[in-house]
Amino acid sequence: MTRYGETRNSLDKHNLAPKKRFGQNFLVNKNTAEAIVRAGNVSENDTILEVGVGLGALTQPIAERAKKVIGLEIDSGLVRFHEEEGDLPENVTLIHQDVLKTDFAELAKTCGGPLKIMANLPYSISNPFIFKLIENREYVSSATIMLQKEVGDRLMAVPNTKDYGVPSILLQCCASIKKLMTLKPGEFHPRPKIDSVVIRIDFSTQSLKSADGTPYSYRMLQKLVRTTFNQRRKTILNTLSSASLFLESDSIDKQTNKRLTEETILEAGIQPTVRPESLSLEEFIKLVHSFTKKLNP
Ligand code: SAM
Repeated sequence: MTRYGETRNSLDKHNLAPKKRFGQNFLVNKNTAEAIVRAGNVSENDTILEVGVGLGALTQPIAERAKKVIGLEIDSGLVRFHEEEGDLPENVTLIHQDVLKTDFAELAKTCGGPLKIMANLPYSISNPFIFKLIENREYVSSATIMLQKEVGDRLMAVPNTKDYGVPSILLQCCASIKKLMTLKPGEFHPRPKIDSVVIRIDFSTQSLKSADGTPYSYRMLQKLVRTTFNQRRKTILNTLSSASLFLESDSIDKQTNKRLTEETILEAGIQPTVRPESLSLEEFIKLVHSFTKKLNP
C-alpha cells in the first residue's frame, strides 16, 4: 500500500478526516520526510520542538536522530489517535497545545537552551508563527519549516520585488534564511493547491546590529517598516508624516512634524520621496538610527 493509502486508512480507522481549519495536509512520502529531517541537521544531543505532529510523518525520523522530541499538536483527535495507537517512539513527548499560545521562554528552559524547531507548518498559521519566531528570537536557535511557496518567497524577498515587505525585513534583520527544497502537492494528503518549500531559518547572536556593529531598536524598526508598508504605494515622507512620530513626543503642529520627518529621513541619507519597497534592510536601519536620535536627543 502507498503511504497515501496508509494515511487515509489511519484517519478512517479513528473516524478522523483532515481538518482545513488546522491546515492539515499530511506528508505521505516517507523518503521526503527523511530528506527534510536530514536537511534539518538534527544531531543526537538535540531536543527538537516539532510543531504540528499530525500523524507523525516527521516525528518518527526526527526521533531516530534526536535525543528528545517535544511535539505540539492542537487537534485533540490526533492526540487521542497517538494515545490509542501508542505509535510514537519513547523519546517523544506529545503535548496537546496551540503553538501560538506556547511560552517559548519556558520551553527553552525545559529544553536546556534555545529551541531547535521543525515543522510542516499548517498553512493557517504561517504568518503569526513567523512573527512569533521573530518576537522570541532569543529563545530559538533555528527553525526548519515547510510552508507555502508564496510565504517562503516573501520571507526571502529582496528590495524592488512584489514579494518584499514586512515579514521579509523583520525576519532578515535577525536571521539568515536558506531554501532547502521545493515540494509538489502530490507529497501531501489532501493535496494543497500550491507548491511548498522547506526553508531553514538561523537566528544569529549578531542580530540587531547594523553593518558597522551599532545596536538598534527592533521596536523602532518594526514601527517604521509597518507604517511605510501599510501604504506601500505612498512615499515614505507621506506615510511617516501621517504617523505623527514627532507629535507623539512633543506639542508641535502638523507642519513642523512633516518638516522634522523630512529632515530625519534626509539625515539618514535617504530621499524622502522613495517608496518603502526600494529600501534595503541597511537603509531601514539607517532610518531607525536617525529617528531614534531625533526623537530622543
Ligand atoms: N507533521 C505532520 C506531517 O508532516 O504530515 C502534519 C503536518 S499538517 C500540515 C499541520 C499539523 O499542525 C496538523 O496536525 C495540525 O492539526 C497541527 N496544527 C495546526 N495548528 C496548530 C497550532 N496552532 N498549534 C499546534 N499544532 C497545530
